[in-house]
Amino acid sequence: MSGFRSLMQALSAQCLATRQAVEPPHMVDLDGRAVEVRLRPSAAARQLSMRLDPRDGAVLLTLPKGATPAQGLAFVCSKADWLRARLAALPPRHLFAPGQRLPLLGVEHRLEHRPEARGGVWAEAGVIHVSGQADFFARRVTDWLKRQARNEITRLAEPMAAALAHSAGARPLRGIAIKDTQTRWGSCSSRGDLAFSWRLVLAPPEVLQYVVAHEVAHLAEMNHSPRFWRLVRKLSPEAPALRAWLKRHGAELHRYG
Ligand SMILES: [Zn+2]
Repeated sequence: MSGFRSLMQALSAQCLATRQAVEPPHMVDLDGRAVEVRLRPSAAARQLSMRLDPRDGAVLLTLPKGATPAQGLAFVCSKADWLRARLAALPPRHLFAPGQRLPLLGVEHRLEHRPEARGGVWAEAGVIHVSGQADFFARRVTDWLKRQARNEITRLAEPMAAALAHSAGARPLRGIAIKDTQTRWGSCSSRGDLAFSWRLVLAPPEVLQYVVAHEVAHLAEMNHSPRFWRLVRKLSPEAPALRAWLKRHGAELHRYG
């Protein structure tokens, strides 16, 4: 590398807090790229900490009591190398727009805008048709995908939970919530409420089936003991491989919409 180029790179590789006002959006300038920092004040936190929102690459900064936004942004910049590496590792983003493609239960679909049509959103032969105004296109796609996720997950979970209640004395399934969680694909409460990320509808169907099996198995075993895993494998024999798929590809699912 020439001396001039390395000098220019050193000059452009920098991190500056460009906006330290009390109101959001707080931004840092990282090598000329604007990165949003979302502050999360926390009474319980003992120190500043941060992670990336996998969906849009914004920094989620936990701010302990007494720390100012300016101190928070300075902290973000003190971790510029970490931030650069994490941003570079994010999979490409797929916004919901006409012409874009998305995998629906393992089948590639193309999004098409039907501004003149009635009937909301519907899928037909590899095309997802979206009626209504352009402004609401992405929102309508997201809402529709959440409904698909709820239908599919309910269809899978109910018979699994019934079979488990019969054979393993599991608690009954109380309800299913569809969320947009960032770190967990599913959860099970001690009262029997299951929750799932709607983004699982973008994964291969056997992966969705595995996550449902995992959470349903928690209705019988609220732990990750060998007994729990035996139950999971009864419901989803390929569980280890499907779990590995989620570890490898899960970040890609967060980049849709
Ligand atoms: Zn679990």
